[in-house]
Amino acid sequence: MKHEYDVVVVGAGPSGAATAKGLSRNGLKVLIVERKKLPRYKICSGLINEKSQKLTQKHFGQIPDECYCRPKIIKGVRLWENTEKHTNWPFGGKDGAPNVWRAQYDKWLVDHSGAEVRDGCLLKDFKVNSKAITLYCQDESEGSIEISCKYLVGAEGCLSSIRAKLNPKLESECLWFLAYQNYYEGECSLDPEWYHGFLDASLGEIYAWFNVKDDFIIFGTSIKRGEKFEPYLKTYTEFLQKNFGLKLGRLVRKSSCLGTNLCATGNFYLGSGNILLVGEAAGFLNMFGEGISSALATGLLAAQAVNEAESENPNRPVLEIYTELTRQERRETLASWKLANRIAGRRLLLE
Ligand SMILES: Cc1cc2nc3c(=O)[nH]c(=O)nc-3n(C[C@H](O)[C@H](O)[C@H](O)COP(=O)(O)OP(=O)(O)OC[C@H]3O[C@@H](n4cnc5c(N)ncnc54)[C@H](O)[C@@H]3O)c2cc1C
Repeated sequence: MKHEYDVVVVGAGPSGAATAKGLSRNGLKVLIVERKKLPRYKICSGLINEKSQKLTQKHFGQIPDECYCRPKIIKGVRLWENTEKHTNWPFGGKDGAPNVWRAQYDKWLVDHSGAEVRDGCLLKDFKVNSKAITLYCQDESEGSIEISCKYLVGAEGCLSSIRAKLNPKLESECLWFLAYQNYYEGECSLDPEWYHGFLDASLGEIYAWFNVKDDFIIFGTSIKRGEKFEPYLKTYTEFLQKNFGLKLGRLVRKSSCLGTNLCATGNFYLGSGNILLVGEAAGFLNMFGEGISSALATGLLAAQAVNEAESENPNRPVLEIYTELTRQERRETLASWKLANRIAGRRLLLE
């Protein structure tokens, strides 16, 4: 069976939901394709910073109670240089940052995006010809399906098959890192109303973190791909046990994901022809791993670019419009990593 849309957005994270929202309210026929069944788990601390709060409120409305976990609001980031010395970086906004479960927050965004949604549907390949882009997908209920569209938006997160196909050189040349975290029942003396980051390089090559969500204490670390995370995690666990009274109960979940260093080098990849990349697929991730704000922002900018190309600027390539619109976002991302390097006293993600 063949399906036709103005735009297909691949990925139901915040970048995909924001793209779809900006397009569907302009009257375009939009489909979101998501490989997992929704609501889906996403490894994330789930802190909605001030910029994300503003974009969420403006385009989707007030975050509903069912998205929140305890403590409902996180006051800020507490960065520890050692066990004695820390610096507080309070979140902007009235009270701090909403502490949400990504499964619920992302599902709520997608449900309010105005787009048709096909979850349990994996994009396997695509072909571009002069008239349309054809997507080849594996749908859990329908099997192999073909979808055709005028514009394709890659909102697949860090592991973007669209970016890999369009720019294999970048894929092989960029540096990759691994983020790993455990969810435990248990206790720890670190203040649950703060998100804690530890900058000592023996605990994590980029940094190690700790936060609380409902009844779970969550801590993790980040390393270069190819290195073993276990020694870092062991050192970090013992460090928390010795210095912050960590007592581990039941292990509830282990999870990990890969990331690229495109954000720190400025090698963003925005797309090709009528294919645009948004959020982490394009390389947008701010310092210390905050990425929801740029996912929402670039999704909205991609939608603006397509809307402009479809109406007031029909002769201007959509990628050129999107490239211009994202200039500020690219600058801010790079500047954030420069600040992170100054704070950490190391060249994070650069070597
Ligand atoms: C440990 C950790 C903690 C973090 N904490 C925070 C935080 O507190 N605050 C914050 O702002 N950011 C945080 N981030 C970053 C944030 O999670 C990401 O930057 C953000 O989710 C990026 O959004 P996205 O829409 O680009 O991609 P994603 O949210 O990754 O969504 C991509 C979607 O695409 C789907 N997909 C992928 N490939 C395909 C395919 N071929 N076909 C169909 N679907 C596909 C995936 O299943 C996924 O649902 C954290 C990241 C990590 C790793």
